[in-house]
Parts: sequence; structure tokens; C-alpha cells
Amino acid sequence: MATTVENPIAADAKVLQSYLGGKWQAGVERGAPLVNPCDGTVLAWASSKGLDLKAALDYSRNVGGPELRNLTYAQRAELVGKIADLLATRRDEWYEVARKNSGNTKADAAIDVDGSIGTLKYFAKIGAKLGDAHLLRDGSPMRLARDQNFQGLHVGVPLDGVAVHINAFNFPAWGLWEKAAVSLLAGIPVLSKPATSTAWLAQEMVHAVIAAGILPPGALSILCGSPNDLLDHLRLGDAVAFTGSADTGEGIRQHARIRQQGVRVNIEADSLNAALLGPDAVPGSPSFDFFVREVVREMTSKTGQKCTAIRRVLVPAEHAAAVTDAIAAALSKIVVGDPANASVNMGPVVNMAQRKSVKEGIRKLSAQATIAYLPEPFAPVDADAVKGAFVPPTLLKLSDSVDRAMVHELEIFGPVATVVPYRDKADAFAVARRGGGSLAASVFSGDTGFLAEAAVALGTTHGRLLLVDPAIGDSHPGHGIVLPSLMHGGPGRAGGGEELGGLHGLWFYHQRVAMQASATTLSALAAQAADPSAE
Ligand code: NAP
Repeated sequence: MATTVENPIAADAKVLQSYLGGKWQAGVERGAPLVNPCDGTVLAWASSKGLDLKAALDYSRNVGGPELRNLTYAQRAELVGKIADLLATRRDEWYEVARKNSGNTKADAAIDVDGSIGTLKYFAKIGAKLGDAHLLRDGSPMRLARDQNFQGLHVGVPLDGVAVHINAFNFPAWGLWEKAAVSLLAGIPVLSKPATSTAWLAQEMVHAVIAAGILPPGALSILCGSPNDLLDHLRLGDAVAFTGSADTGEGIRQHARIRQQGVRVNIEADSLNAALLGPDAVPGSPSFDFFVREVVREMTSKTGQKCTAIRRVLVPAEHAAAVTDAIAAALSKIVVGDPANASVNMGPVVNMAQRKSVKEGIRKLSAQATIAYLPEPFAPVDADAVKGAFVPPTLLKLSDSVDRAMVHELEIFGPVATVVPYRDKADAFAVARRGGGSLAASVFSGDTGFLAEAAVALGTTHGRLLLVDPAIGDSHPGHGIVLPSLMHGGPGRAGGGEELGGLHGLWFYHQRVAMQASATTLSALAAQAADPSAE
């Protein structure tokens, strides 16, 4: 956020320290301000200038790695569980930081904070099932030649480097722990780099875990402030898991050192996610109502700042007006303002720069779409509309699905969505696929045959599909919610990554080796290895 001399500074504002090389250290300058988006108050600063990041990575690799890999999967799972238990005891503190630094309502903070605790607990539980093993195995030994004694087996050996986790601003807690849970369970030390603008929550949580002495030395580090030369010191055996915009992700993928050293990279980037209303779902039908409720929830939850949020609302042309009216009516009931006021159900976006970017996005999209809902005058509760980073929920609409590419290409990271009418089934699927590769799409229909058809048609361009017939209309957790047991990621512009997915997520942190040996040698190896597919 661009701050000026007028920005007030909180009495308890502090410089965030990084935990690197087993000690807390601050950059040589005060650095970038972290603000309360409701009024611009500076809450903290963060800088990585002058920090020795090469030494930090070496420490993680040489101290944290061996310490972690001396433990079995089950022992590491226990540590992951202890982190979850500790974080759960201080939930209210995390909610408060999320309110102040991210403008989160309680419900928004719960997605981030409770989501991270739930994910850690989940990996503690399924990781325990891997028992005393130190390796993974994929399948069972197989005979490779006429000699029955010559056999083969795919074995996963944990990487011997450091896992660098670079996270986006919108999930400072969940982004940290959903990655760290898998990496720690795999035996790979973590160096986490939260987005600077909301690093406070991540830093406080890491501080609590380090202070509690749960993890061995070097297992968990955090870098607050810009990445500086971090990537220049990576080497074979390290892994980078990145979440953020497609542009930054592409820069990381193309980074010379990463390419030269063959460092593993997983990219979770942005996405033009769609929700599709089936042709059968007439106004007043359960599918119609579930669809409208979900679009509104996705537009307003975390003020639309979820990578999985619904951006494109695909509806049968004959029902476009009814859908638009129903969404607009529901949006008119959303109370926007300072989340310190309990009546507020949508807070600001993360800072003024983000507000500017959202407004600019709406302006650009308005060249091809019309505004269908925008509350005016707009007066956020208990806040100043000029000084706070508030954006009203905004619905746009296209008159038809023809041409007009911008809605399929421009991610507006805020409470904004566009209604796109489609002609028929084939048109609906073609329009959904124009997102260029997305994290998630949801399809609402009472016709399970149509849902199955949509699953096949959208499968190649999506990482996750939520197929909602009325039987699960109330029981699914939501279009935008990522579950630890299922894979998260999407093809194309969404980055092509895969995270989580239960124990399958461990493979990113293991080298899969095709072992060829005698039956006796392979049995000895297999005895040390756990099969994650048997979870
Ligand atoms: P961003 O600007 O791309 O930043 C993401 C992270 O990358 C931050 O920690 C940032 O650090 C760091 N970074 C910036 N430049 C870098 C470089 N040259 N080398 C290494 N790291 C670098 O994204 P954002 O604004 O924080 O997040 C919003 C975007 O993330 C949206 O587009 C959203 O769709 C996407 N997102 C995707 C997912 C997913 O799972 N697919 C989840 C959440 C968000 P600084 O903050 O210090 O600059």
C-alpha cells in the first residue's frame, strides 16, 4: 500500500523479524509498511534487506533436513499435529490479526485460520498411517526379466534440500500451513516467504511454533519482506512451491538458477473460475436457488480475494435476466464496512493498491460488459470510503457469449463477477473452457446426466469440478473451498500445479526412483517404505 506521511501509525507497530538460520533477525532498514485496510493505519513493517539468505538456506538444508529425516513419517505427523493443537489454542488472536491486517470478517478469518488448523490435523492423521517408514513406495516389486530374482520397484526418496514456500497475500495462514504440513511430513525443512502486505499473521504463527519448541532446529524458517536474492541460492534437491499471480509464477519458472539447477517448481496461480447453471435449472428450481446463493457467497467471501472465487457466471440465455436480478437482490443485502462491527459481512480488499487494481479491472471490463449491480451511493459501515480500501460488490453482464475476450482473460481479484449468457450446452462448455485453464468450476443442475457430460467436457481445462445436484446443494463446503484430501491446482494459466491431495501431495517432495535389484534387496527396501496410496 502506498503510504503517506498522513498514515497513522499504531502505538504497538513493530518491525517484523525473520526466523532464519535458527535465529530471529531483522533487515537493515524498516522496510515496507503493513496496514489496516480499513483506514491505512500502519501496523508493522517488514524488510529482508541485508539478510544472508544463502546462509539461511544452507542451515535449513544441513541442519533441518537431517533432523527431520531422522524421524519416521509417523513421528513427523505427530509434530504436525502438535502445531495444529498449539494454533487452535490461540485462534482468537489469529482472528484479530486477520481482522486488522487483512480486513477479514470472522467468517473470512475462519477460512484462513481454521482452514490451516484443519489441514494440519488432517495431515497429522493420515501421516500417522505411514508408520515407521522413511521412504515411500509406489506399488509392489515386479518381475522384470526371465530371471524371477531380477525385479523392479518405484521408491520415493525424500529430497535432501529445502522447500521454499512463496505465498500470496490472501491466505497468510492457510498458505503457510497447507504447504508446510506436507513438506514437514515428507521430511523437508521449510523456508516460508509470506506476501509482505499480510505477513504479520504468518510471522506470529511461526513465532508461536518456534517458541513452543515443537520442531527440530532448522525445520521451519520464515522470511519477512521481499524475496531479494533467495532464488539465486537454490540448488538441485530444493523445491519451490509458489502461490500468487500468473506473472510472478512465470518469472519464477523462468528464473535462470531454477532452470540451470533443475529445481522443482509447483505453481498455483490465478484463475478465471466459472459457475455454470444447467439448462434445466429454471427460476424457482432448487438448482437455481443453490446457484445464486453460491455465486453471492463466492463474490463476497474474503471480499472476492480467493484464487478459486467465481468470476464468470454462465447461465442459459433465457434465464440470464432472472439470474442477474436474483444475484443483485442478494448482493443488496451485503453489509460492507469495518469488520470490527459485527453487522458487517464484507470487509475491504487488502490495501489501496488492490482497490485501485480492482477498480481499474472493472473499468476495463466495462468496455465490453454492462454494470448490472453496483450500490450507489456507497457508504461502508464505520469506515471512510475514501481512506479505506473498500470496493462494493459489483456484478457485470454480457448480452451474449460471442467474442468479447476480456471476461475470460482478466482476473479482477475482488468482489466482482460477470454474468455470461450461453446459447446451448455446447456453447456453455466452450465458454467455460475459455478461461485458459482454471482452478475450479462448479456446475449446478438437477440433471445428473448433464453433470456427467459437463465433467468430461470441462475436465481437461480444470483442476477441480464441483458438480451440484440438489441432493448435495446444502452439504458441499462451497465452490471456493480447497479440501486437504483432494488435489488443488489447475492447468494452463492456473499454473499447472498440484498441491495437497492427501498423501499424494508427498510425492512433490520425494524423488521417485526406479529401483532395479534382486528380490531380496527390493524386499529389504520395500520394508522401509510406506505406500501412500493405501491411506
Ligand atoms: P503476487 O504479487 O504474485 O505475490 C505472490 C508472492 O510472490 C508474494 O509472496 C511476493 O512477495 C512474491 N514475489 C513477488 N515477486 C517475486 C519474485 N520475483 N520472486 C519470488 N517471489 C516473488 O501475488 P499476490 O498479489 O500476493 O496474490 C494474489 C494473486 O495470487 C491472485 O492473482 C490470485 O489468483 C493468486 N492466488 C492463487 C492461489 C492458488 O492457489 N492458485 C491462491 C491464492 C492466490 P512480496 O509480497 O514480498 O512482493
